[in-house]
Amino acid sequence: MNLFKPLETQDKPSAGKNESKGSEHVRVLIIGSGPAGYTAAIYAARANLNPVLYEGLQPGGQLTTTTEVDNFPGYPQGITGPEMMEDLKKQAHRFGSDVRFGMATAADLSKQPYRVTIDYEKEILADALIIATGATAKYLGLDSEEKYKGQGVSACATCDGFFYKGQDVAVVGGGDTACEEATYLAGICRKVYLIVRKPYLRASKAMQDRVENTQNIEVLFEHVTKEIVGDSSGVNGVLLENTKGEIVKKDITGFFVAIGHQPNSDIFKDYIETDEVGYIKTIPGTAKTNIPGVFACGDVQDKHYRQAITAAGSGCMAALDAERYLGTRVF
Ligand code: NDP
Repeated sequence: MNLFKPLETQDKPSAGKNESKGSEHVRVLIIGSGPAGYTAAIYAARANLNPVLYEGLQPGGQLTTTTEVDNFPGYPQGITGPEMMEDLKKQAHRFGSDVRFGMATAADLSKQPYRVTIDYEKEILADALIIATGATAKYLGLDSEEKYKGQGVSACATCDGFFYKGQDVAVVGGGDTACEEATYLAGICRKVYLIVRKPYLRASKAMQDRVENTQNIEVLFEHVTKEIVGDSSGVNGVLLENTKGEIVKKDITGFFVAIGHQPNSDIFKDYIETDEVGYIKTIPGTAKTNIPGVFACGDVQDKHYRQAITAAGSGCMAALDAERYLGTRVF
């Protein structure tokens, strides 16, 4: 199959303007509006590729659920997640990116141009596609967890750990992420409880050793979180149930959920290679997927770093890879 057949029956790509229902052909389509998607849009727009970006269900991505972002270079006083996303969006607009509301609901990447359905009805045909759909942190599903999100409950220790300096916190989970977050927090906080539902950790041996060798981490095996408690100023404790059915209270001010993430790659999985969890595989050192002209950046392809700055960097890579790809093809 020739993936790069010249477009005979399709219209030439539009500049991404005059959106209407039905179908529209664009040069670069970006799906997702976190730091990866917006950075890809900034670079693609500056390269005159007239990118169209669909924001997805959560415009601004995961960072809109955090409060202060203190570790993104260039903001000496820090910035809130939503403000940073607004700034990135404005910057993408400034160079002519066409940023739109809408969620990608289906995709057909079997041939060029690639087809993505938006909100179940509109079809976008794209010469190059950049997937920046992110990943969604899994939560326990407790009402109290929802209530204190952003007020003591967090799914990112690197983002929010600093606010709990010198305090007692808990991390729930027994995988590599939970162990990594617990050891990171142990360097900032006075005490870290690692709440594990099984009698063992699922994490790699190296991570388990790190936890074991960190004095201020206490692992609570076979404990299940029943409720996070607090008041108007935020979290002040957690109620756990042990194997005897007893309820144990730990006084903490921060509760970090580290039970895994779900990459948002479902609609692409029939075409794109992923790992067993669903993270899109990219060729190391690039944003290229197994399909020429389809690129992935940000958390949908990164289970290790998951930072705003690494997502932004990979968004830049995706746009540069797309530019080079388009420059070497005749459509
Ligand atoms: P994992 O799926 O590996 O682990 C999730 C953990 O959360 C498990 O211990 C699981 O318990 C627990 N869990 C799940 N649901 C609940 C629940 N409802 N209540 C309590 N506990 C729960 O996710 P990770 O994010 O840790 O890791 C994902 C992948 O990323 C892995 O392949 C990991 O190796 C990799 N990774 C690698 C890193 C590195 O190399 N530096 C760093 C971070 C991640 P149970 O075991 O009982 O199912």
